[in-house]
Amino acid sequence: MIDRRVFLKSAVVAVPLSHVGDTFALAPAQKTDAESAAVLHAATEVPWQRNLRRIGQTNMTEHDPAVLDVEAWADYWASAKVGAVFISVTGILAFYPSTVPFHRHGKFLGGRDFLGELHDAARKRGLRIVARYSPDLNWVDALAAHPEWFMRDEQGHPKSTADTPDLFETCMFSTYMTDYIPAVMREINARYDVDAHYTNGWPSFALPVCYCDQCRKLPPPKTPAYWDKFNERVLGLCKLYDSIAKEKKATSFYFANMGGGIHASPNLASLGEVCPWFQADNQGRGGQDEPVWGCAQQGRVCNAVLDGKMAANVTGAWSTGPIRWREVSKSPAEAQMWFGETLASGMVPYFHNVGGEKGFGEDLRWKNTGRDYFQWIARHDAHFVNKRTIATIGVVIGQRTQLFYKAPHNVSMQQSMDAIYYALIEGRFLFDYVHEDKLQLERLSKYSALILSNTALLSDEQCQQLRTYVDHGGSLLVTFETSMFTNENERRKDFGLADVFDIHLAGEMIGRRGNSNPYLARIERSHPILDGFADTHWLPGAEYRLPLKPIDNPVLTVVPGYVAYPPELSYPPLSRTNEPAVVLRERGKSRLAYFPGDIEPTMWLSGHTDLTCLLQNTIRWVSGESSPVNLTGKGLIEAFAWETEPGFAVHILNYTNPNAHRGWMRDFYPIGAQQVRFTLPAGRLVSRIELLRAERDIPFHIVGDSIEFTIPSVTDYEVAALYSV
Ligand SMILES: [Zn+2]
Repeated sequence: MIDRRVFLKSAVVAVPLSHVGDTFALAPAQKTDAESAAVLHAATEVPWQRNLRRIGQTNMTEHDPAVLDVEAWADYWASAKVGAVFISVTGILAFYPSTVPFHRHGKFLGGRDFLGELHDAARKRGLRIVARYSPDLNWVDALAAHPEWFMRDEQGHPKSTADTPDLFETCMFSTYMTDYIPAVMREINARYDVDAHYTNGWPSFALPVCYCDQCRKLPPPKTPAYWDKFNERVLGLCKLYDSIAKEKKATSFYFANMGGGIHASPNLASLGEVCPWFQADNQGRGGQDEPVWGCAQQGRVCNAVLDGKMAANVTGAWSTGPIRWREVSKSPAEAQMWFGETLASGMVPYFHNVGGEKGFGEDLRWKNTGRDYFQWIARHDAHFVNKRTIATIGVVIGQRTQLFYKAPHNVSMQQSMDAIYYALIEGRFLFDYVHEDKLQLERLSKYSALILSNTALLSDEQCQQLRTYVDHGGSLLVTFETSMFTNENERRKDFGLADVFDIHLAGEMIGRRGNSNPYLARIERSHPILDGFADTHWLPGAEYRLPLKPIDNPVLTVVPGYVAYPPELSYPPLSRTNEPAVVLRERGKSRLAYFPGDIEPTMWLSGHTDLTCLLQNTIRWVSGESSPVNLTGKGLIEAFAWETEPGFAVHILNYTNPNAHRGWMRDFYPIGAQQVRFTLPAGRLVSRIELLRAERDIPFHIVGDSIEFTIPSVTDYEVAALYSV
């Protein structure tokens, strides 16, 4: 698929280099007007990967060279209208006759250039090719020759994989990554014309714990100081691999596996600046208690760090979850919801099966699931090319907190983030994730409010950035131990944001004793955050809280926890205190809310509807009355709004389903009419609204600077595409 644009771009690269002293410079070549125009055009060209709308991968097994039908494989992916396929080079097992020492040939390869055949079949169909490597493992013979390549436990033993005792984990700080992997990459560059290089299995999803000679020189594992060294190494290797990719052609590049949602191991903000493609390996959920929005949440993570660069999310065709069947299809409804979430959150869908008989295995059900959905997307591609999100609420994601903070309760930090996520989608708010390393005022200016849900670790600089944001009229909703720790995970004596909220710690954290009631929050006066609470002075408190010094005129105060059993003793011995259970301030245009309790995890564990109501009311209060998009109707939905190439798009995912919190989706249960009010930016008009899933137009009417329309029903997913000039 060397189209004209790509050819022109290559032409720029082909301008001869002339030697000037010790440096190389572009030769002052004589150009015709047409050539100059072509160069100018190419310079503003969108990188090729940004034009990909769908991606496919058959993950090759060692056995595939014996059974895979190369033409049928390429035909399937072409019929699904993918723009690129991933082809396994690997590093664990070579799928071509590699001559790099210790690049073991698969036992069914038989000297054949299997990779080359796949490469040619993909090229013949105009598909881009990404070479896929796995630098994470190698075999016992490599261990014998290069003991320094491998990870060690504390006793110095190499670490073998759970299922294959003669396959061992390599160390990313070793020369395996700077000698062996570059040698394999250069061999690929020499033999094939691939468009990009990608490593699976590295960086690992969890921070590595290794005691090899190299790693013993590093700070202790699982510390912020180690994380700094880890990130330095990740960036260094990414740059090395990218430079090797570019030895072949300037449009080629390298990218890493960055999947893992918020709880990713590398610093996504800095990796996002280096990698031109965010590969999210978030393939699906299983039967464990895991909410359905995992993929949409991943998209928000990508948007927080990419500044409009390309992100793809993998949907596993296979049975993902705690018990996995690599060659058996998952339910079509679950795969379909994952695709919908991928699109709604602005990522490119990527479908992935694991090889097998003829390359498809003996369970062929997944093939139609992927092809049908991808063919539908292809009819509406333009509406999935996004320019920017439309959201005025930012939710800060703190990777340091996710990695290093130890919460007092039994809820993981992922679940804690899921709790605030649940409140946000239940309240139908439009929001973005904002990375903790991207809190500069110019980035935050689009948000009327930021939410920091127990973002415990914040540097002095980050606290200052939040202070500046508030000084410029920004609002904050902050909970529990936010800003109680430095970025080095050292506990502060008082909140880093104490002055912003005018709050002060009054003692040690107070938790629930044994099986006792947590504290109650007593309503002291009316306030918008208490909308809907009638006939009660008591609301549930949180399981843990930080005691605060008294404030003037509190809205909620703490009634300390007390005995739950026996009921004879179940009454608060102290009916009232002056300890605040929330702090609410208004400073200029800023609205500030601080909850000293861990109300999100408490809500997650208890399922208490008062707590989600309190959170939603508070989000509504801090973010102000006017939202650019208002969605009303019945049902649990997740919504996104984008400015797109043709105009705008409102995406609605229907999570009203018994499997919203525990996979998989078995079926869909359509929700009824959803009313949308969309405030148009100044000077913009809408000429037409098309529902992309229903594939029909709907009417709308203009009310002031807004348009209003009704989406009659949503089965799994609907997109209202607004054509605008
Ligand atoms: Zn090591």
